[in-house]
Amino acid sequence: MADIINLLPDNIANQIAAGEVIQRPASAVKELLENAVDAGATEIQLIIRDAGKELIQVIDNGKGMSETDARMCFERHATSKIKTIDDLFQIRTMGFRGEALASIAAVAQVELKTRMHNAELGTYLEIDNSVIKKQEPCQTAEGTSIAMKNLFFNVPARRNFLKSNAAEMRHVVDEFIRVAMAFPQIQFSLNSNSQNLFYLEKGSLKQRIIAILGQHYNARLVSVKESTDYMDVHGFVGKPETAKKTRGDQFFFVNNRFIKSPYLHHAIMNAFAEMIPADSYPLYVLFIDLDPAHVDINVHPTKQEIKFDDEKVMYAFVQAAVKHALAQFNITPTLDFEL
Ligand code: ADP
Ligand code: MG
Repeated sequence: MADIINLLPDNIANQIAAGEVIQRPASAVKELLENAVDAGATEIQLIIRDAGKELIQVIDNGKGMSETDARMCFERHATSKIKTIDDLFQIRTMGFRGEALASIAAVAQVELKTRMHNAELGTYLEIDNSVIKKQEPCQTAEGTSIAMKNLFFNVPARRNFLKSNAAEMRHVVDEFIRVAMAFPQIQFSLNSNSQNLFYLEKGSLKQRIIAILGQHYNARLVSVKESTDYMDVHGFVGKPETAKKTRGDQFFFVNNRFIKSPYLHHAIMNAFAEMIPADSYPLYVLFIDLDPAHVDINVHPTKQEIKFDDEKVMYAFVQAAVKHALAQFNITPTLDFEL
């Protein structure tokens, strides 16, 4: 009987794996922004054309890569962020899977420019279909610029599956905001089709919230801060009067990673109970920090769903922290001048 099993060539394997990590322009935006954050950048620029279908470029002033690393970073499972299985339970970086750049290189044309701080010259690389087409030394700013063009040019089915530019751009902006919200100490900008949509200066969390979500929150944010040996929660909730009928101003971060948690959302809604109309949503931007050993961020490739080892404790703690914060604020007319 003839054997029929063969190993897939790398470029096909990469393309299949890419499907999990890069579903749309916004997923690439998230991965590239997180890489820039992990590289220690203090300034990050995102440049978009055609909602990311034509171009997604991230320019950072982070630590850059050596010539060898510049080639290596596009291999699957190539990462500088973990080395041993134990590291997996101590993650402090946004990335660790070593899959994003390999996936991006499998579904777009990529141009990389990177230079380490003490290097005289940087490296320029061009990649097409996971294959390095060109490599040469180049003059470039310290840090890294990655441009990905024509997303899914080689996977027409997937390209056709993309939504309208308006819809894809909304996802791009959402991802941008989530990362920018988590790191107010980093300057971020977003330029789309040559228009500047955001320019966020370095500052406090409060300044970042107001810069992103609007001036009307000025003087209408209540600080939340509470800690135990097990975890720490800090951030802001909006005063009850700012609750809206629409969602969009709700953010949870666990160890600086944006997460979706209907469960913790419920804890906050409960803390606000009676203070706001039943069908409205208060602003919250809350950061929960705890020992990475107590969280499993490995549940899903996009890392938006995570598992805590004790969800109930988390629920009670978040709810109590928000209740305390709300109890402290006294109901006086809101004045609009302080920041
Ligand atoms: P991961 O982030 O999970 O490690 P990626 O595929 O996103 O995997 O990146 C692979 C590696 O390339 C990273 O571990 C890092 O060493 C390097 N890298 C990626 N982006 C940058 C960047 N903007 N600046 C410096 N190094 C980077
Ligand atoms: Mg990464």
